Amino acid sequence: MSANFTQGMIQMRKKQFKAESKKLLDMMINSIYTHKEIFLRELISNASDAIDKLYFRSLTDNAVKLSKDDFKIQIDIDKENRTITLTDNGIGMTAEELESNLGTIAKSGSLNFKNENADDENAQDISVIGQFGVGFYSSFMVADKVEVVSKAFGDDTAHKWVSSGADGYTIEECDKEDAGTVITLHIKEDTENEDYSQYLEQYKIDELVKKYSDYIRYPIVMEMSHQVPDPDKEGEYITELSTETLNSMVPLWRKSKSEIKPEDYNEFYKSKFMDYTDPMAVIHTKTEGQATFDALMFIPQNPPYDFYSKEYEKGLQLYSNGVLIMDKCADLLPDYFSFVKGLVDSADLSLNISREMLQHDHQLKIIAKAIDKKIKSELTKMLKNDREKYEKFFKTFGLQLKYGVYANYGMDKDGLKDLLLFESSNGDGYTTLKEYVGRMADSQESIYYACGENAEKISLLPQIDAVKEKGYEVLYFTDEVDEFAIQMLMEYDSKHFANICKDDLDLSTDAEKEAMTKKNEDSKDLLDKMKEALNGKVTAVKFSNKLGSHPVSLSAEGYVSLEMEKVLNSMPGANKGVKAQLVLEINSNHPVAEKLEKADDETLKKYTGLLYSAARLIAGLDIDNPTEFSDIIAELM
Ligand code: ADP
Repeated sequence: MSANFTQGMIQMRKKQFKAESKKLLDMMINSIYTHKEIFLRELISNASDAIDKLYFRSLTDNAVKLSKDDFKIQIDIDKENRTITLTDNGIGMTAEELESNLGTIAKSGSLNFKNENADDENAQDISVIGQFGVGFYSSFMVADKVEVVSKAFGDDTAHKWVSSGADGYTIEECDKEDAGTVITLHIKEDTENEDYSQYLEQYKIDELVKKYSDYIRYPIVMEMSHQVPDPDKEGEYITELSTETLNSMVPLWRKSKSEIKPEDYNEFYKSKFMDYTDPMAVIHTKTEGQATFDALMFIPQNPPYDFYSKEYEKGLQLYSNGVLIMDKCADLLPDYFSFVKGLVDSADLSLNISREMLQHDHQLKIIAKAIDKKIKSELTKMLKNDREKYEKFFKTFGLQLKYGVYANYGMDKDGLKDLLLFESSNGDGYTTLKEYVGRMADSQESIYYACGENAEKISLLPQIDAVKEKGYEVLYFTDEVDEFAIQMLMEYDSKHFANICKDDLDLSTDAEKEAMTKKNEDSKDLLDKMKEALNGKVTAVKFSNKLGSHPVSLSAEGYVSLEMEKVLNSMPGANKGVKAQLVLEINSNHPVAEKLEKADDETLKKYTGLLYSAARLIAGLDIDNPTEFSDIIAELM
């Protein structure tokens, strides 16, 4: 610590909380959050984390002369002075750490209050608490003053941080023998609506520890008083004091599955992974064989609050025989499952392993593979047994799976293809590729799809009618990644995918095809003139018989579809050069065809321009000159 910094710290000047922290703190102080009791869980988790850190050091650093049995978290209640004190002998905090850890919260993001719940204070409360796992600050829900005395392991001096809430905090030097942290909460006075005094009752604290912190691996001890029969006076009782360990200390994932209730999993998930809703699915597995490990994983109901930000880190907690060695081990989760939360505990991993070495660890690779397989099989089960739930899951995280099919040159596509869902012309709801293929008509050779903003818009495309007339179903691709993913897949069950907006889609009979070819040959002059009028905007103009009752459409020739052009050009840093090769198709059965044939050169030019613009609009593309478009329409009217 620099001398300057120390001096600054030691002055008993009141410091202000960082703006965002203050906002959150205000919410905590005035919280009507129904689960105020979680403050205890948060403080115990912090203490346990701090002990984890020192315990880990003790295993790898000979300078630490502590063994597992030396670690504990102690709770003391002082009813008279209305205080609860939590003492841990973990890693402790330096003055800088007190400052930065307790003076700032929500370090990783800005506070996005959920505005849709703006009227409902309680909902807002919960969402913020849930979003940030505000931990330490939750003490202010039950306390009007909080003191933290801490000494960092290896430091000579201890410091005391005190705050009565929003008006700031002080830090000063103080005495403390050993490393660790002592947190004292001055419990608020009871109000009409709130019974704060309950937190000064030993039975209540005992209950809360068992409810929320049972799995904590270090003993949580408290001095308990019991009424026992007086050995000297029959019929009378005396108070006996004894220090008891309140928690069972068996990590949840080490317990046998039959012992665990759904609530246990839910509570564990919420407290450990800072969510305020129960998980959508729990995956608990004990694996023996090539690698031996326990894994406890959760699929959240909602994306984590920072899921779509750059800061989001995927990964599972990694334990070696019950000791946390890494908080977010990214190598354990493929990107397409980055939303999965959880942990892995394996005795096969060395404690001393570094992050770099871990990446190359053979054992870890086997575990990662097994985990990938396990998650997939759970999702497959959900798809089969609880369709509604799976669809909800897919709406939330399906995009991830689609990217998974596309990423890494399609390396993972086979494992994911049966987990995909799409909307289709079959009606409401979603279909898997397997279900689609199961419904395919005998004469149908390809899996048809169309792209667009949403199902409704796609269902209005001119090309749809002809395909549906044949009795063929069309998959609706509404996500940008869809077509790219499907290109990667190439085929499903030996059936190729066909974009109904590509010009080579032809569902007509041989005779019809022949007639069409002839018509186009005979009309070569007309079509060439039209192409010329469009001045390089299309590679061809042709008559078509696949537009049902609609006059025109644009289709694409070659590999790049219209959707792909849109997506590729909208990507950051895209060179705008990617162009679909457009073909303007005119419905040969539509009266407009005859109009074109009869028009003089000047009018033909105008008609062509109009039809081209109209076709662009239908395809969801901008038109080059909307003013001219409307001028010509008006003129012709
Ligand atoms: P979180 O636990 O989510 O990081 P908190 O606000 O609860 O958020 O705590 C902030 C930080 O303060 C912790 O990450 C930790 O570094 C530190 N801290 C809190 N309690 C303790 C403790 N008992 N011992 C050591 N460090 C602690």
